[in-house]
Amino acid sequence: MSLGCKKVPFLDLPTPIEYLPNISRELGINLYLKRDDLTGLGMGGNKLRKLEYFLYDAQQQGATMLLTTGGVQTNHGRLTAAVAAKYGLKCAIVAIDEYPGEISANILLDRMMGADVILKEDDHLRSLQVQTHETAMAVKERYEAQGETVYYIPTGGSNELGILGYYDCAEELTVQAAELGISDSRIIVPVGSMGTYMGLFCGLKDLESPLTLSGVLIAPYEESVRAFAKSYFDKVKECYGLEFDAEKSDFHIDEDYTCGGYNNPVPEVREAIYNMARKEAIILDPCYTGKAFNGICQMIRDRKIEQGETIIFVHTGGQPGINTPHHRLEMEQELMDGIKIL
Ligand SMILES: *Cc1c(COP(=O)(O)O)cnc(C)c1O
Repeated sequence: MSLGCKKVPFLDLPTPIEYLPNISRELGINLYLKRDDLTGLGMGGNKLRKLEYFLYDAQQQGATMLLTTGGVQTNHGRLTAAVAAKYGLKCAIVAIDEYPGEISANILLDRMMGADVILKEDDHLRSLQVQTHETAMAVKERYEAQGETVYYIPTGGSNELGILGYYDCAEELTVQAAELGISDSRIIVPVGSMGTYMGLFCGLKDLESPLTLSGVLIAPYEESVRAFAKSYFDKVKECYGLEFDAEKSDFHIDEDYTCGGYNNPVPEVREAIYNMARKEAIILDPCYTGKAFNGICQMIRDRKIEQGETIIFVHTGGQPGINTPHHRLEMEQELMDGIKIL
Protein backbone atom coordinates (compact mmCIF):
# COMPACT_ATOMS: atom_id res chain seq x y z
CA MET A 1 0.00 0.00 0.00
CA SER A 2 1.16 3.56 -0.63
CA LEU A 3 -0.29 7.04 -0.51
CA GLY A 4 0.99 7.88 -3.97
CA CYS A 5 4.06 9.97 -3.14
CA LYS A 6 7.49 9.07 -4.44
CA LYS A 7 10.71 8.67 -2.51
CA VAL A 8 14.40 8.17 -3.15
CA PRO A 9 14.77 4.64 -1.77
CA PHE A 10 18.27 4.87 -0.28
CA LEU A 11 17.64 2.60 2.72
CA ASP A 12 18.36 -1.10 2.89
CA LEU A 13 14.94 -2.32 4.07
CA PRO A 14 13.46 -4.10 5.89
CA THR A 15 15.40 -3.45 9.07
CA PRO A 16 15.66 -6.57 11.28
CA ILE A 17 13.42 -7.47 14.21
CA GLU A 18 15.31 -9.19 17.03
CA TYR A 19 14.07 -11.06 20.07
CA LEU A 20 15.68 -9.93 23.34
CA PRO A 21 15.73 -13.12 25.46
CA ASN A 22 17.49 -11.82 28.58
CA ILE A 23 15.44 -8.66 29.04
CA SER A 24 12.26 -10.58 28.16
CA ARG A 25 12.96 -13.10 30.92
CA GLU A 26 13.71 -10.36 33.41
CA LEU A 27 10.56 -8.34 32.62
CA GLY A 28 8.18 -11.27 32.10
CA ILE A 29 7.18 -10.16 28.60
CA ASN A 30 8.23 -11.09 25.07
CA LEU A 31 10.28 -8.13 23.92
CA TYR A 32 11.28 -7.72 20.29
CA LEU A 33 13.33 -4.83 18.95
CA LYS A 34 12.77 -3.28 15.53
CA ARG A 35 16.25 -2.14 14.60
CA ASP A 36 15.56 1.21 12.96
CA ASP A 37 18.85 2.34 14.42
CA LEU A 38 20.44 0.17 11.71
CA THR A 39 19.44 2.41 8.84
CA GLY A 40 22.88 3.05 7.43
CA LEU A 41 23.69 6.65 6.56
CA GLY A 42 25.21 9.00 9.12
CA MET A 43 24.92 6.49 12.00
CA GLY A 44 21.25 5.78 11.38
CA GLY A 45 17.91 6.50 13.01
CA ASN A 46 14.21 6.94 12.35
CA LYS A 47 14.46 10.26 10.50
CA LEU A 48 16.01 8.57 7.47
CA ARG A 49 12.69 6.94 6.55
CA LYS A 50 11.11 10.38 6.48
CA LEU A 51 14.06 11.82 4.58
CA GLU A 52 13.61 9.40 1.67
CA TYR A 53 10.43 11.35 0.90
CA PHE A 54 11.83 14.80 1.69
CA LEU A 55 14.82 14.18 -0.58
CA TYR A 56 12.60 13.26 -3.52
CA ASP A 57 10.50 16.39 -3.01
CA ALA A 58 13.62 18.56 -2.63
CA GLN A 59 15.11 17.16 -5.85
CA GLN A 60 11.83 17.79 -7.70
CA GLN A 61 12.00 21.41 -6.56
CA GLY A 62 15.58 21.79 -7.75
CA ALA A 63 16.95 22.33 -4.24
CA THR A 64 20.67 22.88 -3.72
CA MET A 65 20.38 22.92 0.05
CA LEU A 66 18.41 21.32 2.89
CA LEU A 67 17.57 23.48 5.89
CA THR A 68 16.08 22.11 9.08
CA THR A 69 15.57 23.01 12.73
CA GLY A 70 15.61 21.40 16.17
CA GLY A 71 17.54 21.38 19.42
CA VAL A 72 21.29 21.81 19.11
CA GLN A 73 21.76 18.02 19.43
CA THR A 74 18.96 17.14 17.01
CA ASN A 75 19.28 13.64 15.53
CA HIS A 76 17.02 14.76 12.72
CA GLY A 77 19.49 17.53 11.87
CA ARG A 78 22.37 15.03 11.82
CA LEU A 79 20.48 12.70 9.46
CA THR A 80 19.45 15.62 7.23
CA ALA A 81 23.17 16.46 7.05
CA ALA A 82 23.88 12.83 6.12
CA VAL A 83 21.36 12.77 3.28
CA ALA A 84 22.55 16.15 2.02
CA ALA A 85 26.16 14.94 2.00
CA LYS A 86 25.29 11.73 0.15
CA TYR A 87 23.19 13.47 -2.49
CA GLY A 88 25.41 16.48 -3.16
CA LEU A 89 23.35 19.11 -1.37
CA LYS A 90 24.40 21.71 1.17
CA CYS A 91 22.84 21.59 4.63
CA ALA A 92 22.18 23.95 7.51
CA ILE A 93 20.69 23.20 10.91
CA VAL A 94 19.09 26.03 12.90
CA ALA A 95 18.62 25.72 16.66
CA ILE A 96 17.38 28.12 19.32
CA ASP A 97 19.83 26.81 21.84
CA GLU A 98 23.12 27.48 23.54
CA TYR A 99 26.49 26.28 22.35
CA PRO A 100 27.12 23.25 24.57
CA GLY A 101 30.74 24.18 25.20
CA GLU A 102 32.24 21.55 22.91
CA ILE A 103 31.80 20.05 19.47
CA SER A 104 30.72 16.52 20.29
CA ALA A 105 27.92 14.00 19.68
CA ASN A 106 25.53 15.09 16.91
CA ILE A 107 27.11 18.49 16.31
CA LEU A 108 30.46 16.85 15.73
CA LEU A 109 28.87 14.54 13.16
CA ASP A 110 26.99 17.47 11.56
CA ARG A 111 30.26 19.30 11.05
CA MET A 112 32.08 16.16 9.86
CA MET A 113 29.42 15.76 7.18
CA GLY A 114 29.78 19.41 6.20
CA ALA A 115 26.57 20.96 7.56
CA ASP A 116 26.44 24.46 9.03
CA VAL A 117 25.05 24.63 12.56
CA ILE A 118 23.42 27.99 13.32
CA LEU A 119 22.65 28.75 16.96
CA LYS A 120 20.63 31.60 18.42
CA GLU A 121 19.92 32.10 22.09
CA ASP A 122 16.39 31.82 23.44
CA ASP A 123 14.96 35.33 24.00
CA HIS A 124 12.51 33.88 26.58
CA LEU A 125 9.91 36.29 25.23
CA ARG A 126 8.28 34.10 22.63
CA SER A 127 7.75 30.36 22.27
CA LEU A 128 10.62 28.26 20.95
CA GLN A 129 8.45 27.31 18.01
CA VAL A 130 7.93 30.93 16.97
CA GLN A 131 11.60 31.84 17.42
CA THR A 132 12.74 28.74 15.57
CA HIS A 133 10.52 29.41 12.57
CA GLU A 134 11.44 33.08 12.42
CA THR A 135 15.17 32.37 12.62
CA ALA A 136 14.93 29.58 10.06
CA MET A 137 13.17 31.87 7.60
CA ALA A 138 15.80 34.60 8.09
CA VAL A 139 18.61 32.08 7.56
CA LYS A 140 16.84 30.68 4.49
CA GLU A 141 16.71 34.16 2.96
CA ARG A 142 20.40 34.65 3.63
CA TYR A 143 21.35 31.47 1.80
CA GLU A 144 18.95 32.28 -1.03
CA ALA A 145 20.63 35.66 -1.42
CA GLN A 146 23.86 33.68 -1.93
CA GLY A 147 22.21 31.77 -4.77
CA GLU A 148 21.06 28.60 -3.02
CA THR A 149 17.67 27.00 -3.60
CA VAL A 150 16.73 26.04 -0.07
CA TYR A 151 14.34 23.21 0.81
CA TYR A 152 12.96 23.64 4.32
CA ILE A 153 12.15 20.63 6.50
CA PRO A 154 10.36 21.39 9.80
CA THR A 155 11.62 20.17 13.19
CA GLY A 156 11.76 16.38 13.32
CA GLY A 157 10.45 16.21 9.76
CA SER A 158 6.94 15.96 11.16
CA ASN A 159 4.57 17.41 8.62
CA GLU A 160 2.21 15.65 6.19
CA LEU A 161 5.09 14.33 4.05
CA GLY A 162 6.99 13.24 7.16
CA ILE A 163 4.48 10.52 8.06
CA LEU A 164 5.10 8.52 4.91
CA GLY A 165 8.28 6.76 6.00
CA TYR A 166 6.54 5.18 8.96
CA TYR A 167 3.34 4.66 7.02
CA ASP A 168 5.48 2.30 4.90
CA CYS A 169 7.10 0.86 8.03
CA ALA A 170 3.66 -0.17 9.33
CA GLU A 171 3.39 -2.57 6.40
CA GLU A 172 6.96 -3.77 6.91
CA LEU A 173 6.19 -4.51 10.57
CA THR A 174 2.91 -6.23 9.77
CA VAL A 175 4.63 -8.58 7.32
CA GLN A 176 7.55 -9.29 9.66
CA ALA A 177 5.27 -9.91 12.64
CA ALA A 178 3.23 -12.40 10.59
CA GLU A 179 6.43 -14.23 9.57
CA LEU A 180 7.53 -14.39 13.20
CA GLY A 181 4.08 -15.54 14.37
CA ILE A 182 3.66 -12.48 16.61
CA SER A 183 0.78 -10.68 14.90
CA ASP A 184 -0.86 -10.16 18.30
CA SER A 185 1.93 -7.76 19.34
CA ARG A 186 1.81 -4.19 20.47
CA ILE A 187 4.27 -1.78 18.88
CA ILE A 188 5.78 0.77 21.26
CA VAL A 189 7.51 3.84 19.91
CA PRO A 190 8.93 7.03 21.48
CA VAL A 191 6.93 10.16 20.57
CA GLY A 192 8.78 13.42 19.94
CA SER A 193 7.47 15.55 17.09
CA MET A 194 5.01 12.69 16.41
CA GLY A 195 5.64 11.95 12.72
CA THR A 196 6.85 8.44 13.49
CA TYR A 197 3.82 7.63 15.63
CA MET A 198 1.37 9.21 13.17
CA GLY A 199 2.85 7.36 10.22
CA LEU A 200 2.57 4.03 12.03
CA PHE A 201 -0.94 4.88 13.23
CA CYS A 202 -2.20 5.68 9.72
CA GLY A 203 -0.36 2.78 8.09
CA LEU A 204 -1.66 0.19 10.58
CA LYS A 205 -5.22 1.52 10.27
CA ASP A 206 -5.15 1.63 6.49
CA LEU A 207 -3.87 -1.95 6.31
CA GLU A 208 -6.29 -3.13 8.99
CA SER A 209 -3.21 -4.61 10.65
CA PRO A 210 -3.72 -6.80 13.71
CA LEU A 211 -0.81 -5.01 15.40
CA THR A 212 -1.65 -2.36 18.00
CA LEU A 213 0.33 0.78 18.77
CA SER A 214 1.30 2.76 21.88
CA GLY A 215 3.49 5.84 22.07
CA VAL A 216 5.65 6.90 25.00
CA LEU A 217 5.83 10.68 25.18
CA ILE A 218 9.40 11.95 25.55
CA ALA A 219 8.80 15.55 26.60
CA PRO A 220 5.73 17.39 27.88
CA TYR A 221 3.68 19.22 25.22
CA GLU A 222 2.39 22.73 25.82
CA GLU A 223 -1.06 21.70 24.63
CA SER A 224 -2.97 18.43 25.03
CA VAL A 225 -1.11 15.65 23.24
CA ARG A 226 -4.31 14.00 22.05
CA ALA A 227 -5.65 17.28 20.70
CA PHE A 228 -2.35 17.78 18.87
CA ALA A 229 -2.53 14.22 17.51
CA LYS A 230 -6.10 14.75 16.33
CA SER A 231 -5.27 17.96 14.47
CA TYR A 232 -2.16 16.36 12.94
CA PHE A 233 -4.27 13.39 11.86
CA ASP A 234 -6.93 15.66 10.34
CA LYS A 235 -4.28 17.41 8.23
CA VAL A 236 -2.90 14.05 7.08
CA LYS A 237 -6.37 12.72 6.32
CA GLU A 238 -7.20 15.73 4.18
CA CYS A 239 -3.83 15.70 2.44
CA TYR A 240 -4.06 12.06 1.33
CA GLY A 241 -7.83 11.55 1.33
CA LEU A 242 -7.66 8.78 3.94
CA GLU A 243 -10.84 6.77 4.14
CA PHE A 244 -10.94 6.28 7.90
CA ASP A 245 -11.43 8.60 10.83
CA ALA A 246 -9.84 8.87 14.24
CA GLU A 247 -10.92 10.46 17.48
CA LYS A 248 -8.74 11.78 20.29
CA SER A 249 -9.34 8.62 22.29
CA ASP A 250 -7.84 6.49 19.48
CA PHE A 251 -4.38 7.89 20.11
CA HIS A 252 -2.63 5.86 22.79
CA ILE A 253 0.23 8.08 23.83
CA ASP A 254 1.34 7.66 27.43
CA GLU A 255 2.36 10.96 29.03
CA ASP A 256 3.49 9.55 32.38
CA TYR A 257 7.16 8.89 31.62
CA THR A 258 8.52 12.17 30.25
CA CYS A 259 10.57 12.60 33.45
CA GLY A 260 9.79 16.28 33.22
CA GLY A 261 11.78 17.57 30.27
CA TYR A 262 13.30 17.20 26.83
CA ASN A 263 16.70 15.51 26.66
CA ASN A 264 17.19 15.96 30.41
CA PRO A 265 19.57 13.71 32.36
CA VAL A 266 17.54 11.23 34.42
CA PRO A 267 19.06 8.57 36.73
CA GLU A 268 16.31 5.94 36.01
CA VAL A 269 16.75 6.41 32.28
CA ARG A 270 20.48 5.79 32.60
CA GLU A 271 19.79 2.68 34.70
CA ALA A 272 17.49 1.41 31.93
CA ILE A 273 20.21 2.11 29.36
CA TYR A 274 22.86 0.24 31.38
CA ASN A 275 20.51 -2.68 31.91
CA MET A 276 19.82 -3.04 28.19
CA ALA A 277 23.53 -2.71 27.39
CA ARG A 278 24.56 -5.29 30.00
CA LYS A 279 21.88 -7.87 29.15
CA GLU A 280 21.55 -7.54 25.38
CA ALA A 281 24.51 -5.43 24.18
CA ILE A 282 22.00 -3.01 22.67
CA ILE A 283 22.87 0.66 23.05
CA LEU A 284 19.95 3.02 23.66
CA ASP A 285 20.14 6.81 23.73
CA PRO A 286 19.42 9.11 26.69
CA CYS A 287 16.92 11.42 24.96
CA TYR A 288 14.46 9.06 23.24
CA THR A 289 14.95 5.30 23.29
CA GLY A 290 16.38 5.10 26.82
CA LYS A 291 13.49 7.17 28.11
CA ALA A 292 11.00 5.06 26.19
CA PHE A 293 12.55 1.83 27.47
CA ASN A 294 12.39 3.18 31.02
CA GLY A 295 8.74 3.92 30.21
CA ILE A 296 8.20 0.31 29.14
CA CYS A 297 9.71 -0.95 32.42
CA GLN A 298 7.45 1.44 34.37
CA MET A 299 4.40 0.40 32.33
CA ILE A 300 5.05 -3.18 33.37
CA ARG A 301 5.23 -2.10 37.03
CA ASP A 302 2.10 0.02 36.58
CA ARG A 303 0.29 -2.94 34.92
CA LYS A 304 -0.23 -1.06 31.67
CA ILE A 305 1.70 -3.90 30.03
CA GLU A 306 0.55 -7.39 31.07
CA GLN A 307 2.90 -10.19 32.00
CA GLY A 308 3.36 -12.40 28.92
CA GLU A 309 2.47 -9.61 26.49
CA THR A 310 4.42 -9.39 23.24
CA ILE A 311 5.92 -5.98 22.54
CA ILE A 312 7.78 -4.76 19.48
CA PHE A 313 9.83 -1.78 20.63
CA VAL A 314 11.03 0.43 17.80
CA HIS A 315 14.69 1.40 18.26
CA THR A 316 14.65 4.78 16.60
CA GLY A 317 18.41 5.42 16.92
CA GLY A 318 19.92 8.48 18.57
CA GLN A 319 23.02 6.79 20.01
CA PRO A 320 25.38 9.71 19.26
CA GLY A 321 23.49 11.46 22.10
CA ILE A 322 25.38 9.45 24.71
CA ASN A 323 28.30 11.77 24.03
CA THR A 324 26.53 15.05 24.77
CA PRO A 325 28.36 16.55 27.76
CA HIS A 326 25.33 16.78 30.07
CA HIS A 327 24.68 13.05 29.71
CA ARG A 328 28.26 11.85 29.43
CA LEU A 329 29.44 13.59 32.60
CA GLU A 330 26.70 11.93 34.66
CA MET A 331 27.60 8.54 33.18
CA GLU A 332 31.28 9.07 33.88
CA GLN A 333 30.45 9.58 37.55
CA GLU A 334 28.37 6.42 37.68
CA LEU A 335 30.70 4.18 35.68
CA MET A 336 34.04 5.33 37.03
CA ASP A 337 34.07 2.58 39.66
CA GLY A 338 34.79 -0.05 37.02
CA ILE A 339 37.90 1.69 35.74
CA LYS A 340 40.86 -0.05 37.41
CA ILE A 341 44.24 1.55 37.04
CA LEU A 342 47.03 -0.86 37.94
C1 LIG B 1 13.19 12.16 16.47
C2 LIG B 1 13.40 10.94 17.23
C3 LIG B 1 12.33 10.24 17.80
C4 LIG B 1 10.91 10.72 17.75
O1 LIG B 1 10.36 10.69 16.45
P1 LIG B 1 9.22 11.73 16.09
O2 LIG B 1 8.83 11.37 14.72
O3 LIG B 1 9.84 13.09 16.21
O4 LIG B 1 8.13 11.56 17.09
C5 LIG B 1 12.60 9.07 18.48
N1 LIG B 1 13.86 8.63 18.60
C6 LIG B 1 14.91 9.27 18.09
C7 LIG B 1 16.26 8.70 18.31
C8 LIG B 1 14.73 10.45 17.38
O5 LIG B 1 15.78 11.10 16.88
